[in-house]
Amino acid sequence: MGNIWSRFYKKNRAERLEVIEQSNILEEEYLNLVKDNTVLDYDTANNMVENVIGTFSLPFSVVPNFVVDNKSYVIPMVTEEPSVVAACSNAGKIVASSGGFTTTIHDRKMIGHVALYNISDTDSAEQTILKNKDLLLKTANEAYPSIVQRGGGAKDIDIRVLTEDGTTFVVVYLIVDTLEAMGANMLNTMLEALKVSLESLTGGIALMAILSNYATSSLVTSRCAIPFEKLGENGKYLAERIELASKFAQSDVYRAATHNKGIFNGIDSIVIASGNDWRAIESSCQSYAVKDGKYKGLSTWRCDLENNLLIGELTVPMPVASVGGSIGINPSVKVARQILNNPDAKTLAGIITSVGLAQNLAALKALVGDGIQKGHMKLHAKSLAILAGATNDNLDLVVDKLREQKHMNLAIAKQIVSELSN
Ligand code: NDP
Repeated sequence: MGNIWSRFYKKNRAERLEVIEQSNILEEEYLNLVKDNTVLDYDTANNMVENVIGTFSLPFSVVPNFVVDNKSYVIPMVTEEPSVVAACSNAGKIVASSGGFTTTIHDRKMIGHVALYNISDTDSAEQTILKNKDLLLKTANEAYPSIVQRGGGAKDIDIRVLTEDGTTFVVVYLIVDTLEAMGANMLNTMLEALKVSLESLTGGIALMAILSNYATSSLVTSRCAIPFEKLGENGKYLAERIELASKFAQSDVYRAATHNKGIFNGIDSIVIASGNDWRAIESSCQSYAVKDGKYKGLSTWRCDLENNLLIGELTVPMPVASVGGSIGINPSVKVARQILNNPDAKTLAGIITSVGLAQNLAALKALVGDGIQKGHMKLHAKSLAILAGATNDNLDLVVDKLREQKHMNLAIAKQIVSELSN
């Protein structure tokens, strides 16, 4: 498949669609959806959420030749931010030529909790709950029998006693194998069903029963090992500075926040394309970034000087799904999933985590090398030119002229457009 994707970014839309057609990644029905730019229709949208007045579009891009666990993928990305797709392509290419990303799925379960209060003897409540663990798991599973029939269901129970400002909570955690689903509705149904039993076992009062987005039982690691020379002529120098940037993101929360934002440029783009709940993924990963009691960069980079390798690693909770929610409803999601060869939930989680690591590599490489603005300014010029009214016919010229200016702003862009139209 390699060659047909070469210089994809230089092609026009018709040529890009031809490559997609030649690559055979899309069945005819889905290829036609892309060709016609068919998106969510109003009636479907209106059945999904409330107060709908229309649908809202974002650019839909692809990144070819992205290698994860020895398989080559085309990555669908949905983002409004210039340079994210180019950066992912650039880093993905470097890693592909270094053997690709390798992933580990540590587990794939979801956690929810019932918080109880007004319990005088918390030790005895804890023991009673543990003694009745099998009964409670049975109750949870009876509340959502279809997931048990599919081979999943509630697997374990854990308890914590927490005190805040004079109030003590007995928190009962339910751990559920949700198989291919993210499982929010499944968990919430099971947890609701446990409320009455837990109240009668402990004598306490249930405050709430709800899924937790801190998905520490859905951890995924992506790793890559890049020979220094793949980073360019000054590869070793860049690799050492990327290692320093990694340490900086571990030590300074101001840097860590931006380091992680860069990772989410990639993660969010593919999570949105794959029809998953990106707020849930953001919430999971951002809370995981503070797991050591301090907010830190989620990825780490280190140099293996013996083997001349830059080694990157990203571990995050990635509870994405291949079914459920709006995944089967939105036609663009169906296209994106087919572009990815319809991965199951675990495979998708590995790909998404790898995209996050690629995006991080691209950002760090630019930051410790030429600086981030060099690449950004061209895209910024393009945005200004479009805002100033440049058309497809004069866009490149307006961008070139704008970049020759000492300062770039909308007024100057408008002046250039106006001069060219006279
Ligand atoms: P769904 O309620 O859509 O449940 C998953 C569906 O997938 C079920 O109907 C299930 O069918 C079906 N299914 C088919 N095959 C499988 C399989 N192999 N494994 C598992 N399920 C299968 O979605 P979720 O419970 O996953 O909840 C996700 C949604 O909840 C998202 O839209 C999210 O935005 C939202 N949400 C998120 C919250 C949060 O993050 N805090 C809170 C509340 C909602 P069957 O029933 O027959 O088993």
